[in-house]
Amino acid sequence: MLRTRNSRTGRAAALVTGLLLAALAAGCGKDGSPPVKGPRLEALPVYEVDTGFELPESPTWAKAKRRGHLVIGAKEDQPYLGEKDPASGIYSGFDIEIARMLAASIGFEPKTISFRTIASANRETALQNGQIDYYVGTYTINDMRKKLVGFAGPYYMAGQGLLVRTDEDDISGPQDLDGKTVCSAAGSTPYQRIAADFPKAVLVAYDTYSICVDNLLTYQVDAVTTDDAILLGFAAKAPDEMKVVGRPFSEEPYGVGVPRNDNALRLALDDALEANEENGNWKKAFEATLGLSGVPAPTPPPIDRYPAN
Ligand code: GLU
Repeated sequence: MLRTRNSRTGRAAALVTGLLLAALAAGCGKDGSPPVKGPRLEALPVYEVDTGFELPESPTWAKAKRRGHLVIGAKEDQPYLGEKDPASGIYSGFDIEIARMLAASIGFEPKTISFRTIASANRETALQNGQIDYYVGTYTINDMRKKLVGFAGPYYMAGQGLLVRTDEDDISGPQDLDGKTVCSAAGSTPYQRIAADFPKAVLVAYDTYSICVDNLLTYQVDAVTTDDAILLGFAAKAPDEMKVVGRPFSEEPYGVGVPRNDNALRLALDDALEANEENGNWKKAFEATLGLSGVPAPTPPPIDRYPAN
């Protein structure tokens, strides 16, 4: 039923996957099998709010305090990382937990946090024009981006991978992509890497990976490429339809994006990340979210407190 070879439009494809995900969320497993578990609220750590925290030298922090709430940029369609429940509007996932634990550490009560979905291609602009105070959403730290924004962290190390349909036998790594249609998100590092290193692949870009997945399930593309952490989440939600193949072929250190010149905020978030790694919150948050896609909790990478530039 999922292999809608004949569906004509991306809209129809989106509907098919939307229905599948909705059915899973509603607890209707395929063929009566139990649904893949989503994050359970009661398994999530409760982050202690540092009510006396002050950071007046951070323009972002000071503005958020005056406003009375923090606006955090995130993804809304990445299973176990950043997902928005369409009915309740509630965001969940590992990135969301990172965002919440940091907010608590810098003095914001849960009820004073709001999330805003920002696609990969729009992250730098959103931080530059003050649309969001910080961003947590599978955001790779690299030198090019550091010219535009600042990064706290890294808080997780991912690597680029490939997602294909379970009936695909020809693709087991990026070397097999010649002449194949590969989908990724515009403005992402995986997109750029395929363009630069595997020019014989036929690259297609959309705003989000969930649209790529719709296109994969409807045979409009042969593979989806992005970080393994993201792909494993999609595969875990529909294991009969899709699989992650090969080994990761890049390093994608995830950082928390902040406005470029706000070093005070960046370093405060570095301290907060470190404290949450030490007190066990990081590991608990991981196990209750991304861990559900089958990844055991790793040791987080060392934090890079780079000098202001
Ligand atoms: N981590 C990669 C990036 O920051 C891919 C994931 C994403 O697009 O968010 O570009």
